[in-house]
Amino acid sequence: MSHFKLHFKTVDLKLDQPFTISRGTKETVSNVFVEVTDGTYTGYGEAAPNTRYNEDAEKVTHFLGSLPDNFFEEVKTGEELAEKLDEHSRVFGQLVQSAHAAVEMAWLDWWGKSRQQPLWKLWGAPSSTGPVTSYTIGLDEIDVMQAKVEAADEYPIYKVKLGTERDREIIEALREVTDKPIRVDANEGWTTLNQAKEMIRFLAEQNIELIEQPMPARMIDDLRKLKKFSPLPLCADESFTGSESLEEISGAFDIINIKLMKTGSLVKAKKVIDKASANDLQVMIGCMIESSVANTAGALLSLWCKYTDLDGHLLIRDDPADGLLLTKGKKITIPDRPGLGVVMK
Ligand code: MG
Repeated sequence: MSHFKLHFKTVDLKLDQPFTISRGTKETVSNVFVEVTDGTYTGYGEAAPNTRYNEDAEKVTHFLGSLPDNFFEEVKTGEELAEKLDEHSRVFGQLVQSAHAAVEMAWLDWWGKSRQQPLWKLWGAPSSTGPVTSYTIGLDEIDVMQAKVEAADEYPIYKVKLGTERDREIIEALREVTDKPIRVDANEGWTTLNQAKEMIRFLAEQNIELIEQPMPARMIDDLRKLKKFSPLPLCADESFTGSESLEEISGAFDIINIKLMKTGSLVKAKKVIDKASANDLQVMIGCMIESSVANTAGALLSLWCKYTDLDGHLLIRDDPADGLLLTKGKKITIPDRPGLGVVMK
């Protein structure tokens, strides 16, 4: 008889405002919350499946429901668990990365709690405070985007979603209301090399810190040419899901955006972080639209990284948990609690 139990449920998280990127608009997201308990300690995890990667809540719950009762027995480390999840996926016949992330997160939270230590200490992080997070301004009417920037005045760095017909107009309008650094995320929206070059030429004069995923991930040859041309650092998001060769990625990008829902594993993500600088890559920790549960797990990884974009929990209305905090200067910081540092409300 297994003494571990796995529970999960799908929760529709409402966004504070509709969130638009070059691929479409969202008003709610269906995320799956996971608990792993031994009856004494309970660990929490969250899957934020994203259709860009062919995942949804149904696939996640189907995968979770397929895990046998004794799945967690004899698992001693996060590495062992990540391997076991991969093995199970091979038998299951489908890889659902966000489900892997949720299970591993919950187990690691349980593991830290069972040792009554914060995970960041158990993992030997230099401190519990990481980089400043950017705050995302979704696509909207120009005056609404200006108002969103003004309403988010407390944030020192904005991330602006582009990849539209009116990118230049948007940036010019935002520069009327702020001179703070902006990270641009085109979400694969510039579809020719010339269009991307033209935009970058313009953006280079606009106090832009970096450009995320300028072109579609499949256009890797053009992305390589773009890196040679670009005076601004380029960041791989859709181009980097976790298993790509870092050497190849570094031919087209300067930064990789690691998201737990793409890599499916904190343990594997940490290994990528450890290898990135040897491949001339900086790391950003990003997120999907997810609550404080998954974003606190992301915050743990950010402690070893240069860039953070962990604002998903700030964009939803009823965050079901308390977890990562922001300092006055909007640096990510993890509260001093055992495990991930999350408490459910
Ligand atoms: Mg992105």
